[in-house]
Amino acid sequence: MKLAHILDGLRCASCGTLNALRLDPIRAQVECRECGQTALILTDTDEGRSL
Ligand SMILES: [Zn+2]
Repeated sequence: MKLAHILDGLRCASCGTLNALRLDPIRAQVECRECGQTALILTDTDEGRSL
């Protein structure tokens, strides 16, 4: 089980490096390996459900 996934085909919005973004599903963050830029990701998997 991999905790981090490489996001193929995505370009970092900060430094512009292609395929440098890494998804951390535990923290729900996308992190760039080149510049260290992180961003929260939003998922709609829980849409329609109240927790
Ligand atoms: Zn970057």
